[in-house]
Amino acid sequence: MPARLIDGSAHARAIREEIRLAVSRLPAGRRPPSITVIQVGDDPASTVYVRNKHRAAEATGFRSAILQLPASTSQVDLLERIRALGRDPDVDGILVQMPLPDGLDANEALEAIPPSKDVDGLHPYNAGRLAQGNPTFVPATPLGVLELLRRERIDPTGRHAVVVGRSRLVGRPLALLLLQNHATVTICHSQTVDLPAITRTADILVAATGRPGLITGDHVKPGAVVMDVGITRDPVTNRLVGDLERPTVDPVASAVTPVPGGVGPMTVAMLLVNTLRAYRQRPGQA
Ligand code: NAP
Repeated sequence: MPARLIDGSAHARAIREEIRLAVSRLPAGRRPPSITVIQVGDDPASTVYVRNKHRAAEATGFRSAILQLPASTSQVDLLERIRALGRDPDVDGILVQMPLPDGLDANEALEAIPPSKDVDGLHPYNAGRLAQGNPTFVPATPLGVLELLRRERIDPTGRHAVVVGRSRLVGRPLALLLLQNHATVTICHSQTVDLPAITRTADILVAATGRPGLITGDHVKPGAVVMDVGITRDPVTNRLVGDLERPTVDPVASAVTPVPGGVGPMTVAMLLVNTLRAYRQRPGQA
């Protein structure tokens, strides 16, 4: 039987609706949660991501702002803008869209965000809390993968989870989250020797490489759950593709996430979850 498709779009819609309801029930006169996304330069892919986040935030009743800065912005100016938002009591969440143009220091920018407003979970304080097993804000994409598993009633406890990819944004925090949820976790990367031998031992396999078709049926244990985080635009068809070679993976796996419509929509939904949480944690909000 071919793998069941996990409908990330439907789960993300449900989460966004839950958040919209929570916002609509706030006491009269209380301001809604608010998020500001900072975009430096005009990278077209970033512009699409920023717009999607902005639209989703507004549709859920949040206040959403995009701070668009020119690519020529200096490091000093960028840090001052971030710190000003950090001091602003009417801003709950701050997100600096990556990648930054050459010449700007992303680490410094991330560290200028107060950890309590770091809804992208990339500040070393929040990353450290996750590493210590006491997470606060976790990056939205790994959080989305875990939430998909939870909503699909796939319990990672005791399962062998293999994460292919070790980036700060996806692979690393995802491995830690799976560990936090009692999976036995293996992380693979570009230097891993004999990738298929390792991935074939996974009950839950997550591909987060951005290498289309890297994971084939030969990499998958029969009955495994396979989550595809990769998003790449195919230069020939101009369509979005994931890391899975679906025609060979589907006959082997028990469930897979499609691209598009799998993990991608969950990322935006979980960013809203993080922002609502930041709002609730601020003094005077509930
Ligand atoms: P990244 O920083 O480029 O990291 C890619 C990871 O894949 C690296 O750890 C790399 O290993 C590993 N890798 C590359 N080739 C490999 C190979 N042949 N075998 C095993 N591992 C390999 O990318 P990222 O930011 O983590 O994003 C990964 C993918 O997820 C991209 O397609 C991105 O567009 C997508 N993404 C999707 C969402 C979403 O909402 N669904 C959100 C964020 C990112 P090394 O560390 O050894 O180089």
